[in-house]
Amino acid sequence: MKITFTLFFTLLTSLNSTMAQEWLINRAEWGSTDSLVESYKHTISYITIHHGGEIYEDEKDTYEYLKNLQTWSRNDRKWIDVPYHYIIDRKGKIFEGRPLEYKGDTNTTYDPSGHALIVVLGNFEEQELLQDQITSLKVVTDFLAKEKSVTSDKIKTHKDYAETLCPGKKLTEYLNTNEWQSFLNGLENE
Ligand SMILES: [Zn+2]
Repeated sequence: MKITFTLFFTLLTSLNSTMAQEWLINRAEWGSTDSLVESYKHTISYITIHHGGEIYEDEKDTYEYLKNLQTWSRNDRKWIDVPYHYIIDRKGKIFEGRPLEYKGDTNTTYDPSGHALIVVLGNFEEQELLQDQITSLKVVTDFLAKEKSVTSDKIKTHKDYAETLCPGKKLTEYLNTNEWQSFLNGLENE
């Protein structure tokens, strides 16, 4: 009886973790190659939101974009991978970027170790933030906050840590709304 009970919970746990990431387009799906660098390992305590910073067309092929970004990151920047852990495109599709266990990279001066980096594609100084992007941003943030026990006071944006416009005007405006604030409060209360 005890074995059955344990098996049931093992099954339930694995089912949950699979279901939790049904929304995710993983690295293999967009054609990523692996980069495993032990010295980049870190422990997540923060969730930090970025914008892409360049105009991103709604119809742009994000699979292709990520492959190019990965090549550029490795060849030009000498990073181990794309700089962000989660990438949200204009349709709200969520892609797995750098494996979460490896700290990200930045062109600015803050230390990204300990930060789970989410980038919402677009330049939000100029482009509108789309509803599908907001929905997906909540999905990823909710997942990370629970998975890594990140409290809402540690869910911030790039410009809270460095001299930058990132994540841009429109996204910053959204993150200051009551809607986002009550979403964050909801995370705390669960
Ligand atoms: Zn940024």
